[in-house]
Amino acid sequence: MAERRRRACLSCPELRAPGGHPIHRLAGASGSGVCGLCSCAVEKKVMLPTESCPAPAPDDPALDRWGEPRD
Ligand code: SF4
Repeated sequence: MAERRRRACLSCPELRAPGGHPIHRLAGASGSGVCGLCSCAVEKKVMLPTESCPAPAPDDPALDRWGEPRD
């Protein structure tokens, strides 16, 4: 799950460079890219089953960019 999500994030146009935000440093994710839509550190986000990608898949709006069903 996490690896598939990570690959999607790393090729996503919304991915931003690590921002060094204090909350990311506290979470040990200061070197991680950041999602431009939700500001989450993607290296942490992709590992959490409760997380979801905020963007629809380009080819199927019923799925997110991780290929998972949207809420
Ligand atoms: S969580 Fe979704 S929108 Fe954000 S960087 Fe990853 S794939 Fe892109």
